[in-house]
Amino acid sequence: MNRITAVRERGAARAAKSACAGTGHFARLVAAGIMLGVLVGCSAGPATFEETRSLMGTYISITVVETERNRAEQAIDKAFSEIRRLEHILSIWQEDTEISLLNRTAQRVPVQVSEEIRRLTETSLEVAARTDGAFDPTIGPLVALWKITKRKVPPSDEEVLQARRQVDYRKVDLEGDRVKINGEGTTFDFGGIAKGYAADRAVAVLKQEGIRAGIVSVAGDIRVFGGADRGTPWKLGIQNPRGPGLIARLLMDDGCISTSGDYERYFEYEGRRYHHIIDPRTGYPAAGARSVSVLGTESVYCDGLATGFFVLGPDAGLARMNEQGIAGLIVGSDGKLRMSRALETGYRIELTGSDPP
Ligand code: FAD
Ligand code: MG
Repeated sequence: MNRITAVRERGAARAAKSACAGTGHFARLVAAGIMLGVLVGCSAGPATFEETRSLMGTYISITVVETERNRAEQAIDKAFSEIRRLEHILSIWQEDTEISLLNRTAQRVPVQVSEEIRRLTETSLEVAARTDGAFDPTIGPLVALWKITKRKVPPSDEEVLQARRQVDYRKVDLEGDRVKINGEGTTFDFGGIAKGYAADRAVAVLKQEGIRAGIVSVAGDIRVFGGADRGTPWKLGIQNPRGPGLIARLLMDDGCISTSGDYERYFEYEGRRYHHIIDPRTGYPAAGARSVSVLGTESVYCDGLATGFFVLGPDAGLARMNEQGIAGLIVGSDGKLRMSRALETGYRIELTGSDPP
């Protein structure tokens, strides 16, 4: 079922050539909302190895810079295995995962959870608090109602109201390793944070395997490492949410960027766009932003915060970023691009032109 592209040694050789010529080589990652520039060194040493697989309902790409082909392939394979392992724990799209089991039982009795789910629950509640509940890990009932990938017509106001009442992260009690949900019908959906966590875990596995530089791209959640080690930073681009091309380019040695947007999972009905990021306060797809990118050191936070700031919209989202010293960029529904202070001062970023249309 996985769509596996061959490890691109020949592509790497081409990249090496263009890097020597000083032009760079951009590889577009499917459905990432992000473009990555992959440069490799000019010596006969390291080459770039890249593989893309389909997991977690999206395309995931892993790129490593390595001298030994075997080590690169083995590390990439182990990193994908880790992501597959997480999918089997965290997916609400499968009935036999730990999270689905939790969703079926934690309204009745406190449920003992694994250390991994405990930590992710804790982190998701922290992100909820930092975004005034705009990111809400109990968004499950609204996500189930909207079924953005299947629906052609929006649900009724009544249905939205009913599901909205079930969503509230303050209904979650986390005590030690036990989770209790104090609300009938309230369920977890880690769709807004788990891909970031997967990127973090995959990078940890690559490092354990001795890889010193690489990129993990789980759709819109990208984590890079070892830019300085290979002698040149990674070049990242942020996609225009309304058309081809980039709105910004940036250079990063180590870190992450997550982008949440309204342009990949949506349907249109009577001239309106209904997308997959839901405002827990209204029960409807969040209005106000087209895309939000958050930069930092851990993808799990970047992912969750990008979703939360998307819901808050340009004004409140930017205010929260600045209060908390978070680096981020918001494209509003007016097409205007706004950068937080931490992004302007702490990152090597270049806007690529005028505001997107
Ligand atoms: P993000 O902004 O990071 O997250 C948006 C997602 O978060 C929504 O899709 C929803 O799930 C949730 N969300 C919406 N509003 C909020 C809110 N206010 N607060 C918190 N969360 C919110 N898709 C499939 O089609 N088939 C699959 O089999 C499948 N399996 C998956 C398994 C796992 C473990 C995960 C994490 C996701 C899976 N997906 C699947 C979902 C798919 O990958 C989504 O596109 C993805 O989760 C949305 O991420 P994003 O980066 O586009 O947007
Ligand atoms: Mg997210």
